[in-house]
Amino acid sequence: MSTDFDATVIGAGPGGEVATSRLLAGGLRVALVERELIGGECAYWACVPSKTLMRPVEARAEAGDAAGLSTPQLDWAGLRDYRDYMIRHLDDAAQVAGYQKQGVTVIKGAARLVGRDPWRIDVAGQQVTADHVVIATGSDPARPPIEGLDDVPVWTNREATTLREIPQRVVMIGGSAVGVELGQFLARMGSHVTLVQRGPRLLDREEPRVGDIVAAQLRQDGIDIRLGRQARAARRDGADTIVELDDGSSVRTDVIVLGAGRRPRTAGLGLPELGITPDPRGGLPIDERCRVSDGLWALGDVTGVALFTHVAMYQARVVADTILGKPRRADYTAIPRVVFAQPEIAAVGLTTAQSRDRGIEIATTELDLAEAITRPWTYQTHPSGTLGLLADRDRRVLVGAWAVAPQAGEWIHQAALAIRAAIPIDTLRDGIAQFPTFSEAYLTATEQLDL
Ligand SMILES: Cc1cc2nc3c(=O)[nH]c(=O)nc-3n(C[C@H](O)[C@H](O)[C@H](O)COP(=O)(O)OP(=O)(O)OC[C@H]3O[C@@H](n4cnc5c(N)ncnc54)[C@H](O)[C@@H]3O)c2cc1C
Repeated sequence: MSTDFDATVIGAGPGGEVATSRLLAGGLRVALVERELIGGECAYWACVPSKTLMRPVEARAEAGDAAGLSTPQLDWAGLRDYRDYMIRHLDDAAQVAGYQKQGVTVIKGAARLVGRDPWRIDVAGQQVTADHVVIATGSDPARPPIEGLDDVPVWTNREATTLREIPQRVVMIGGSAVGVELGQFLARMGSHVTLVQRGPRLLDREEPRVGDIVAAQLRQDGIDIRLGRQARAARRDGADTIVELDDGSSVRTDVIVLGAGRRPRTAGLGLPELGITPDPRGGLPIDERCRVSDGLWALGDVTGVALFTHVAMYQARVVADTILGKPRRADYTAIPRVVFAQPEIAAVGLTTAQSRDRGIEIATTELDLAEAITRPWTYQTHPSGTLGLLADRDRRVLVGAWAVAPQAGEWIHQAALAIRAAIPIDTLRDGIAQFPTFSEAYLTATEQLDL
């Protein structure tokens, strides 16, 4: 039986968009189903607005620390307008028209799988068939079990990134990337921020040193960090909200902002009826080619592999190329992890704990950039920055790196390439980096490694 489409992509976030474009370029008949806006969470309520909001705050702080400059004024209305422009005023008409012009059939509505062999997809009563279905439905913010949360003002990333006024007081739940970025942004815009983190450290999937350095920075920004604490209950008191923590203390706030993780979005897709069940973390189980079952593929946050746009786009390339007859295997070695705070926090590869779990004997080093290289001094009057490296003693290659420093999200990619390509330490030690750049730090740090 001939199908309506060679491939139907469900979800038009960054992953779904890359898959769609690549499948189309490969000559397939493609449908793209989207229940909200073409561009997904990333374009409207996550990466793009958060990085747009963070940049002037970063530039202002950097200007204040550059020799001979004073701290510039920040114009909130101007920043808000530019944020609105960057999120396309929550209007995707141009994107829909663009895809249609290229030959993609765009179907607006929530998709549900209703049959297989061939795949049948229902969108608001309209049914289409396809040889391949790519699920790219993203993730939802986790809602922690705080009693009374439904009765008080709560922002997820959506309200936080589209905010129109800066709240006076904020309780931020969660000390991962979202909590650190939005917490620092709000604090620097004048909010009094209390950040409640369940674990003993911020960014607790990174090296403990990273969490400590970041906590010191955020405290300097005036954030009240409560580590090892959980919010138990929330209630209204007039116009205020009172958040009760598990140590018996309470915090008065205007709004609670949730940054407590995300869950793969699989509800309503009709998967259990077709015998497909998510893994224990809620992600769609995929093989190394991102295949769920014959002709069914998944990519991006819904897989739960690593909740980043660049991972969604990478998996999209794997899926599309495999469908197009050029099979690829996904290799998740050395995915960069950047938190766009000021200074930037960047990491790649394994942490010390992960290396130990894998039985890798490592050598580690930590470099104070202001002591070791010149660039921090030409960059700012209060130079700072740290680079950490982890190397496999047997293989004599890098296995992990982290940095907290200006533009670390850019120059961490040298470590990413070195780890992914297993470039020998001796080759790295023989490298020549432009003077004076932050990249010079790698030379000193690799020489420092006791291998
Ligand atoms: C505040 C914040 C900041 C972030 N910053 C960064 C960053 O700087 N860099 C980075 O790499 N990552 C960042 N992320 C993570 C990033 O947003 C996600 O990893 C990325 O959006 C995942 O892309 P995706 O294509 O899997 O899904 P999404 O972008 O979530 O898109 C999924 C799409 O599927 C649609 N959909 C869902 N169900 C259906 C259905 N049944 N039918 C039809 N359509 C459906 C949705 O409407 C949505 O448009 C951030 C996240 C947050 C919350």
